[in-house]
Amino acid sequence: MQILSSIIFIALTVVGFGFFAINAKKIYRNIMLGQAVDRTDRSSERWKNMLLVAFGQKKMFARPIPALLHFAIYAAFMITQIELIEIFIDGIFGTHRIFKEPLGGLYTFIISLIEIVSVGALIATIFFLSRRNLLKLPRLNMKEMIGWPKKDANLILMMELILVICIFTMNGTDEVLYNMGKSHFEGQGSFNFTISQFIGPAVFGSMSEGTLHVLERIGWWGHFMMVLSFLNYLYYSKHLHILLAFPNTYFANLNPLGQFDNLQAVTNEVKLMMDPNADPFAAPAPDENAAPAKFGASDVMDLNRVQLLNAYSCTECGRCTSSCPANITGKQLSPRNIMMKTRDRLEEVGKNIDLNKGTFVEDGKSLLNDYITPEELWACTSCNACVEECPIEISPLSIIMDMRRYLVMEQSAAPMELNTMMTNIENNGAPWQYSQLDRLNWKDEN
Ligand code: SF4
Ligand code: SF4
Repeated sequence: MQILSSIIFIALTVVGFGFFAINAKKIYRNIMLGQAVDRTDRSSERWKNMLLVAFGQKKMFARPIPALLHFAIYAAFMITQIELIEIFIDGIFGTHRIFKEPLGGLYTFIISLIEIVSVGALIATIFFLSRRNLLKLPRLNMKEMIGWPKKDANLILMMELILVICIFTMNGTDEVLYNMGKSHFEGQGSFNFTISQFIGPAVFGSMSEGTLHVLERIGWWGHFMMVLSFLNYLYYSKHLHILLAFPNTYFANLNPLGQFDNLQAVTNEVKLMMDPNADPFAAPAPDENAAPAKFGASDVMDLNRVQLLNAYSCTECGRCTSSCPANITGKQLSPRNIMMKTRDRLEEVGKNIDLNKGTFVEDGKSLLNDYITPEELWACTSCNACVEECPIEISPLSIIMDMRRYLVMEQSAAPMELNTMMTNIENNGAPWQYSQLDRLNWKDEN
């Protein structure tokens, strides 16, 4: 029986991690569809940024109460991994709480710590479920959150609830079994886990030994299965940020927010025009078969890899949208939705590649127009509030700017006001419809 249990455990582990590896490879492949961008400079600053923002959750603490509750879930997620090591060893070798004897009091301390953070996670989960479904916090109930995004958020919170229940069922029944002298640990010291020593007898104290053993196993297997399910669910969920927040903050743009990068192709052209000694034929002859360079982005493959990583990392928290002046004043634009649509399109392109044996087959669609409309793009004031607010340093603005560049430079499709201004700059060297020489005329007016 024990051998069968170990075989099932190993098979589930291999399948669970195997599926996760396949999906992780797809995410990596999809991100690499983007344009290369060099973010390997200032490595010590990048490590510091990652430790503070992703690991330390620095930006979350701008709103202390949700930050503390989020931290409780995050801490529980991190600390529970210690117990998982034991679960994997016990599952494979058929042992029971293998670290109990060698670690002694330290073991009780670690499991007690897990129990305490699990209670914190339980409170936080109930709070987040209520905030989303009962209090209906506006930023969590906007139109882009209807349907799957809302289900996704609720589902993951329910999984967290089940996980915590499994942990206390496992520990609580074990406490009672030990007290009865029927535990797998008979004679090897007491558990006395901080919380289970009370709730174990209170909830399970009147049950028979057989029932307790069954419940203990349900808690143990439930814990293990929830972890595997969670791992594989990540690929389909906004909760990928649990893993991707780390590279996302490492590769974040460290330049001042108002600093925009120039398109290299345009920079080269301008330099050539401004340099009277430049030899326009000095550059290597372009490959005749190569596609002409594209200015800006109309589809996900035109965005850079960090922008695509941003799309997968977005937590859909809506902090960006709730601080976006365009959204607040009723415009179509929602920076969160920009990230969600970018991810949707990237997923669509990825599925296309999977279906066509590794090659993308033109599907007549693009991120621009099919997912994100020019109206949304032109509603942006480029204020950077969304970037400032984002807890994991995502920049919806950089995607908006690259798509605007495409509209202006490839399609000449800027709004009329902007076209007039650019024509004025071209003709008059100023955004207004009069010559620069007339700029001080106002002082002669009475
Ligand atoms: S930069 Fe654009 S998208 Fe971001 S908050 Fe400002 S207006 Fe909204
Ligand atoms: S871009 Fe950042 S702030 Fe906006 S929804 Fe995603 S994670 Fe939240």
